[in-house]
This record gives sequence, C-alpha cells and structure tokens, in this order.
Amino acid sequence: MNRHFGVTSDVLLGILARVLQLILPTVFLTGGYLMADTSLTDRARSFVAAHEAKFLPLDRRAGLAWWNANVSGKDEDFAEKEAAQNAIDTALADPKAFAELKILKEAAAKGQIDDQVVRRCIDVLYLLYLEKQVNPDLLKKIVSKSNAVEKTFNTFRADLNGKQMTDSEVRKVLKQSLDSIERQQVWSASKVVGKKVLRDLTELVHLRNEAARQLGFKNYHAMQLFLNEQDGDELIRLFDELDELTRQPFRAAKAEIDAALAKQYGIPISDLMPWHYHDPFFQESPALFADLDAPYKNADILQLCRSFYSGIGLPIDDVLSRSDLYEKPGKSPHAFCTDIDRSGDVRVLANIVPNEYWMSTMLHELGHAVYSSKNIPARLPYVLRSESHILTTEGVAMLFEKFSKSRAWIQKMGLRLDNPREFETAARKINQNQLLIFSRWCQVMLRFEKSMYENPEQDLNKLWWDLVERYQEIRRPTGRNEPDFASKIHIVSAPVYYHNYMMGQLFASQVFDKIVKELYPNQNPNDVSFVGDSRVGAFMKQKVFAPGKLYDWRQLTRFATGADLNAKAFASEFQTR
Ligand SMILES: [Zn+2]
Repeated sequence: MNRHFGVTSDVLLGILARVLQLILPTVFLTGGYLMADTSLTDRARSFVAAHEAKFLPLDRRAGLAWWNANVSGKDEDFAEKEAAQNAIDTALADPKAFAELKILKEAAAKGQIDDQVVRRCIDVLYLLYLEKQVNPDLLKKIVSKSNAVEKTFNTFRADLNGKQMTDSEVRKVLKQSLDSIERQQVWSASKVVGKKVLRDLTELVHLRNEAARQLGFKNYHAMQLFLNEQDGDELIRLFDELDELTRQPFRAAKAEIDAALAKQYGIPISDLMPWHYHDPFFQESPALFADLDAPYKNADILQLCRSFYSGIGLPIDDVLSRSDLYEKPGKSPHAFCTDIDRSGDVRVLANIVPNEYWMSTMLHELGHAVYSSKNIPARLPYVLRSESHILTTEGVAMLFEKFSKSRAWIQKMGLRLDNPREFETAARKINQNQLLIFSRWCQVMLRFEKSMYENPEQDLNKLWWDLVERYQEIRRPTGRNEPDFASKIHIVSAPVYYHNYMMGQLFASQVFDKIVKELYPNQNPNDVSFVGDSRVGAFMKQKVFAPGKLYDWRQLTRFATGADLNAKAFASEFQTR
C-alpha cells in the first residue's frame, strides 16, 4: 500500500527512472500475461466507470453551486453549495464502495491490474475515498468545530480602545502609519483573535489527530500529506535545501527593507519590531521602492490577456465569455478559476480594475484555465482529467502571473513605459523580495503545523516565535507569550496546505528554466516574454497538460523538466541581485 518512493538523490532517481523506462514495457507485457488477473482488471474498470457515472453529476452540481454562491453571495446559494458538498462526502464515505476499492488497491499494488491508466485511477480514487472513512460522528464534530472557529474569524474585529476595526482597516494602518505606538497597538489588537479561537482550535487539532489515528496514521499532518501523495521527511529535506539557498539573498533583501522602513519611521534599525512590516505576518513585501501600476492605468486588462494567451497558442476567449469579471454587490472579492465539468466548462471569477495587481491575478487565473479540461485530452478517463496536483496547477498559474512585472513583456504587449530601465530594476527587486519573503514565511507555516500535529502538548507560543525568529528574522516582542499562531486563519481552515504554494513556485521556476533552455537558448531570461510564441503553448500542452493526473506530481516534474522538484531554478532568480 505504500506508494512513496523516498527521494534519494537526483542522480540515483535519474538512473532509476531510466532503468524503469527500459524494463517497464517488458514487465507490462510478460507481467500482464503471467500475473495480471483479467477479472480484477475488469472489476477495476467497472469500479472506475461506476464512480464516473455517479460523480459526474454530483461534481457538476457542486461546481455550479460553488460558482453561484461566490457570484451572488445569497444565503440560498450558499445552502445549495453546502448540500452539494455533503452529497459528495456521503457518496465517498460509502463503506461498501471503499471495501471494493481496498481489494482493487491491493491488487494494483501486487501488479494484478495490467492497465496503467486503470491502475492510476484506482490509486487516485483510493486516496479520495480513504479520507472520508472516519467515524461519521467524529467527522461531524470536526466540521462543526472548524465552522465555529471560522465564524469567530469572520466576526472578529480588532478592538482598539473601544474602537472596532475591520481587517482592511488594520492593514491600512500597518501600511500607512508612521507612528510606532499606533502600529504596535493595532498589530496587538489584531492578534487577539488567536486568544479567542485557541480553545476551539486546540480541540480541533486533537479531533483531527484522532481521525488520522482511526485511519492508521501517526497524526493529521502525516495523513494529509499521504492523501496528497507527499511525505513529511521528504518535504523537510526540500525545505532545508530551500532554506540554505534563500538565507543570504533574504538577508540582503531584508537589510535593504529594514533600512528603508527605519528611515520612514525615524527610528534605529535595531528598534524594528513585528508591527513595522506592513503585513501582520510579514508574509508579503512592504510597499516600498516603486509603483508598478503606471503602465496599467489605461490598459485593457482583458484584451491583454486575450491577445497574450492566443499568441502563445492557448486561447481563452471561451473561458472569458463564461466568466464573471467585474465587481458587484454580494460577489466574492477574491479571484479563482474553476473547471465545472471536466469537459471544457472552465470559468474565472475576478474583480478587475486596471492595475498591476489585477493584471497579475488575471494572468494567474487564466494560467489555471489553460491547465484544465480545455487542454487535458478528453481521452483520459474522468478521474484523471484534471491537473496532476494542486502544486502543479499553482505552479503554472505562477509561471504566467510574473509577466505583469516584466519590462520585456510589458513592452512587447505594446504598453507604454516612461523609463523602462528604471521600471525593470524596481520591478525585479519587488518580485525577488516577494518571492524571498514568501518563501521564508512558508518555512514557518510548514514547520509549525508539522510540529503542532506531532506534539500538540508542547509550548506552541514559543514554537511559533522560535520559527519566526529563525526563518523570518523578526524579533519576538520581549516577554510576549500569546497564541499568535492561532491568529492565522489557514492553520484552521486550510490545514497542511501552505507548502504547496511554495512547491508550486519551485515548479514554476523549474518549468520556466526548462522552456528558456529549450526554446530561447541564447537569451537572457529577463528578456524572455513568450509573447506571440506558439511554441510555448505547444510545450505546455505536450509536457505539462497532456498527462492530466495520470502522472503524480513527482513523475510530472521529471517528465516536464527532466529533474526532480528542487529549489535550484528558484534560487537562481536571486543570484543576480
Ligand atoms: Zn492559484
């Protein structure tokens, strides 16, 4: 049942992959003949077909409900969204279906299913059903606890001497105020939510661990990683590598930021505290150095997206025609892309205004849109007709989003830049700072969550600040002993997820690096914009989109880039600071 090949070294895996390529066809042929049980293969095939027949309408209903709820914000649409999700959960929890799946999964592991595609379907479905095989009462308790915590988050307002502040008001003060005392008060007030949710969150962590143990895992963190075909030790090795490669460039970037902030506030650098960093968690770069909005002030963001994506051979006009792209009352203020039916009904929700943020966000969402059933071959079975992994689709989206800060891209798209060289220097610095700051923040999130689920009884307040000091190099306020970790909503509502953003970034850098080497061998990567080059779309279709979920994320990374996922290409983006 163990699907994890431990990562040894690039070289060893490279050899292993080549050896497998050489011997696999023979194994399939002889193995198929000698060992595979036709009845088991047929049984697996019918299970997959039955799953598809049952889930296609359920998934479509949930997809549409999700879309409608986010577009309208109406209570009845949210109720339908919840009902549709419950119908899916109930179907996945079916113990009879799971019992059959378990037999098929074991048969697949023993090589008794001789069709690679069917075997992969069984592996994918096994993980999907496994998650829901928890005692239903426990599952209900977990859902209601996490709803309670989310509700506390939604209704929480920072209280500043009796004055209630919304989240965006808090952020505004942290972006603009030059008064250190005001900053400290607002920052501290925003952290009080941690204290309010602490009891529920502590219970939730124990319940989640209990569920994981019911399914035979050490703890909830290990289970979530397993369900996503990842492994804790392997992740830590990757993040250690990333830590090494980013530490010096991060220090250099932070020194420059610290100097600029200290100057703004009129204080010595040594007096900078967590509340001086614009973002309450220092997960984003402070707004310094340049305004990137200028080229987009009069730009037609949609037209730019249309012409860019069609120029690289991945047109998205049909997606835009089904999308909901501008602000309106009740609508979600965020942005997302959704594949409703895995048959090409792909849509984007957005709230476009002409600035750099929305240029970048639209390039990002449409990156998800091109990596969908629009370009994943329809011949793949329904179960495999989606992205390989959350990290690979985030990676593709990140690969395209970065062009909004590219001088070469802006010019090739026909936008005006008053001072291209100045823009390029500033934009590259902002981009590098963002990647570095976000990467150090992801270190804190991954390591905190892993350690919290492994040992929830430890001093979590201390663990949090130890990690913040070590990876973000921000000093803990003297004598502070508060549950500040609990003020980060992802710890509650998107557990064991954050590392995928970081790994997506590594994937993006690695794929970009591969494209540059293959298609633009003699060009400076900063001048590569993809504009008007249909070879890019062909590469993406063939090397990234075509396998759908037939390859897991490790296999896909090797297939697309010739190497295991690693931090080298990402780090090379900082070697020219
Ligand atoms: Zn995304």
